[in-house]
Amino acid sequence: MFEKRTKSIFIDGKWKDMDSQKTVTVYNPATLERLTDVAYGGASETKSAIEAASTAFPVWSEMTGRERSRILYKAAELMTEDADRLGEILTLEQGKPLKEAVGEVKGAAGFLLWYAEEASRGYGEWIPSSTKSKRLLVIPRPVGVIGAITPWNFPASMITRKLGPALAAGCTAVLKPAPETPLSAIEIVKIFAKAGMPNGVVNLVTGDAQAIGNEMLTNKDVRLITFTGSTAVGKYLMRESSEHVKKLSLELGGHAPSIVFDDADIDKATTLVLGSKFRNNGQTCICTNRLYVHESIADAFTSMLKDKVAQMKIGSGLGNDVELGPLINEKAFEKVQAHLDDAVKNGAKVVYGGSQWEGNLDGHFYQPTILSGATDNMLIMNEETFGPIIPVQTFTDEDEALRKANDTDYGLAAYIFTENTNRAIRASEKLEYGIVGVNDVFPSVPEAPFGGIKQSGVGKEGGHHGMDEFLEKKFISVGLDG
Ligand code: ADP
Repeated sequence: MFEKRTKSIFIDGKWKDMDSQKTVTVYNPATLERLTDVAYGGASETKSAIEAASTAFPVWSEMTGRERSRILYKAAELMTEDADRLGEILTLEQGKPLKEAVGEVKGAAGFLLWYAEEASRGYGEWIPSSTKSKRLLVIPRPVGVIGAITPWNFPASMITRKLGPALAAGCTAVLKPAPETPLSAIEIVKIFAKAGMPNGVVNLVTGDAQAIGNEMLTNKDVRLITFTGSTAVGKYLMRESSEHVKKLSLELGGHAPSIVFDDADIDKATTLVLGSKFRNNGQTCICTNRLYVHESIADAFTSMLKDKVAQMKIGSGLGNDVELGPLINEKAFEKVQAHLDDAVKNGAKVVYGGSQWEGNLDGHFYQPTILSGATDNMLIMNEETFGPIIPVQTFTDEDEALRKANDTDYGLAAYIFTENTNRAIRASEKLEYGIVGVNDVFPSVPEAPFGGIKQSGVGKEGGHHGMDEFLEKKFISVGLDG
């Protein structure tokens, strides 16, 4: 399916080889087999990509929103038509079940479609002046060249969730995908080119994260960096981008609590918690990391959850009906095991799973795991696990559950399960999170703002709010005669 070597540096509309010929291998995390090699680019490729994006900026930003919109529509259409093939590539490099991968590709196309629609809606304002002789106008202007740094857990949708609004706004871009998953990025860039994107508007550099990131940070021409990844790297980008006062949009780590109240529909809640925790094998920043269940329903809830989890099929994401693929790499596996060991050492009981999956594949697989008796001091109740373990802690009243849910430096997503509307609204308002799901665990949609508070990030992706990140509000003050 892949060449021995895949071209992965795209600058000014051309696929390039690097002078150094240095490459890095992309593996299938299910089998640990080599898929292909891609370029290990660095500072000089990034510099050229930024130059190309700077040259293309006046061309792209001066097109009308409707003209940009047509190209984004075309890209959305091409991506949707090719979703099955793109989904397979995504599963091969990332591991998630094919059905999820195809769903992600369609969702990724959904961001392009939404922002194709938004491209012609960058409204300004005419502010009534308090002085008769003045007219006050506000016009939105694209910020300029942007650097987009994306993670491996959603190799397609994290790209379009950033590039969709950036391109719609009139920005040009340099994209750096995660080293684990460059192949989906390559396909997306090909789609943009096929859709008629002018040269230099979208550029791609794969390779050395530190070197590419450093060029984006120190190059004056990059006006904004949009990043999804760990809080540690987000903080680093924030510190280092201060030299040129760059704008930042950061989607960082999370530690989502799910609270199941005693008035929840247990059947519905168990299915949703399962979807939240085990989608992408727990490797999503909004997936449930800790579960608080009211003591009066804890036994019934845990037992039903266990029955459902026991039905889940593990294996290669390309296998029939597989719901749990591999973890991305050995480091991820070690973290999951460390969280499990720490929880058990501190008194948690393994209700289901609790160890590596002993299948016939070489990848790093972990059984879907449920723990009971979780306590506040456990690592898993405080740090992002990014794997398929669900720790259950019981609570006695609403205030206690909300206090525990809020007791973290993270603030991305939280979920509540209740059939009581008063409680749903009350609790949603008190939860200190950027996103609250009420009997809903899939809040990432093109039309709504996704983003964290506290140390989970700054800025929003999705909705018209997502495009605002890429627009400056220029104020024009006009003095009139007389
Ligand atoms: P994760 O632990 O989920 O891989 P990271 O924050 O390490 O999260 O990675 C997310 C993205 O950030 C990836 O594309 C990665 O290559 C990139 N990245 C990691 N370190 C840096 C850095 N110093 N500068 C720029 N990008 C980086």
